[in-house]
Amino acid sequence: MTHQATDAAGPDQIRAELTEWVQQHWSPDIALRDWREQLLQAGWAVPSWPQRWHGRGLPGWADELVASELIRLGAVGVPVGSGTWLAAPTILAHGSDELRDRLLAPILTGEQTWCQLFSEPGAGSDLAGLSTSAVLDGDSWVVNGQKVWNTSAHHADMAMLVARTDWSVPKHQGITYFALPMHQPGVEVRQLRQMNFHASFNEVFLTEARIPRDNVIGEVGQGWKAALTTLAYERRFSALRRPSYSPAPGRALAEARAEADDHFATYSWYPQRAGRPDLVIEHARSAGVAGDPLVRQAIARLITMQRASEWTAERARAARAAGARPGAEGSIGKLAASNIARESAKVHSMIAAAGALITGPGSPLHGIVAEVLMSVPGQSIAGGTDEIQKNIVAEKMLGLPPEIRVDRDVPFSQVRRRG
Ligand SMILES: Cc1cc2nc3c(=O)[nH]c(=O)nc-3n(C[C@H](O)[C@H](O)[C@H](O)COP(=O)(O)OP(=O)(O)OC[C@H]3O[C@@H](n4cnc5c(N)ncnc54)[C@H](O)[C@@H]3O)c2cc1C
Repeated sequence: MTHQATDAAGPDQIRAELTEWVQQHWSPDIALRDWREQLLQAGWAVPSWPQRWHGRGLPGWADELVASELIRLGAVGVPVGSGTWLAAPTILAHGSDELRDRLLAPILTGEQTWCQLFSEPGAGSDLAGLSTSAVLDGDSWVVNGQKVWNTSAHHADMAMLVARTDWSVPKHQGITYFALPMHQPGVEVRQLRQMNFHASFNEVFLTEARIPRDNVIGEVGQGWKAALTTLAYERRFSALRRPSYSPAPGRALAEARAEADDHFATYSWYPQRAGRPDLVIEHARSAGVAGDPLVRQAIARLITMQRASEWTAERARAARAAGARPGAEGSIGKLAASNIARESAKVHSMIAAAGALITGPGSPLHGIVAEVLMSVPGQSIAGGTDEIQKNIVAEKMLGLPPEIRVDRDVPFSQVRRRG
């Protein structure tokens, strides 16, 4: 199918064309998957993508415009989650045409959900030091190893997996990026319980797990390049937003709300992880300390940091809209998010004093403050720690000398490793 919109189309033209199309095709009674099939066919799924893969070849800014317009029109867009946000752009950038044809549509219709199997007990910040191995055996790769901290692995259909396929070359060169089917006997997922009482992460044990030979994203041994794409998108999407679907009745909307409920159940503590700066004023008022000069200064400082970070994010968004790929500016945003989360936890503690530690009835903000204190440390670890972001900013943006890496240029088999 060919689509009318071109590179020259401006926001008003796109809005008008989308509105007309939605009026012709949207029905509240349609099944969610059928609706998304239509979005894909019409190229409205990810409008900045090429026409062959469910887009219209529009500029990057059209994606956000179309997603928010669909919601405003009372309809539904593509699903939320790491399939859409991480796996799909990585497959589009590095996958073969056959993989793009086979894997992208089920992600965008919501038929298949994905998780990220990157971190290992001995390889987190030093992800390129991973030691899960994959060996080609006939028509499939056989995988052995252990992954950890894998969000949502307990209900994912597919995984973005990085594994070592060549131990005789330096560490970044012997890694391959795979699409791993999760539902098979060689994949065992165990949930981990966190100190904030949630269980969003898993350990994943891979024992003779099988991957079809062609499920390699990028070239064999070139997986590091594809992994960097995923990580860059991960920094960009560190703030997860739930789409505000219309509360109107209808099958597609009900299915979309249920899908989002299911997805965001895992992330229910993520707003607390970000420190809840949006609640500090309400918290200070309810605690009767909004007039305290020290509390007021602390709140003003926090809100200033938050606004400055929002504007920096806006600038980065504008750069992406103009065609730039997510790059080191994502590290600045991620560092700012950590600083804001920590500062916000401090301000909430200042307001609640010892009460900040209490959960249950009568506790400050109904236990939210305690959950903030227990969740904020995760903000500066997930998706690359603060120290790693600082290294990226120092090396990639400021041009400072790189840190000393003694294991970079020797065969990985000769590198001394943990575990
Ligand atoms: C909320 C959350 C969600 C996550 N989701 C996923 C997921 O879905 N999939 C997945 O694969 N992983 C996931 N992770 C794991 C995450 O990517 C790792 O925890 C992270 O990369 C850090 O690795 P590590 O825990 O092994 O710490 P380590 O790498 O062992 O680091 C320990 C400490 O040493 C510091 N450090 C390490 N190297 C350097 C250096 N070169 N210079 C300076 N300081 C350094 C670190 O900053 C840190 O303070 C998640 C983690 C969290 C908290």
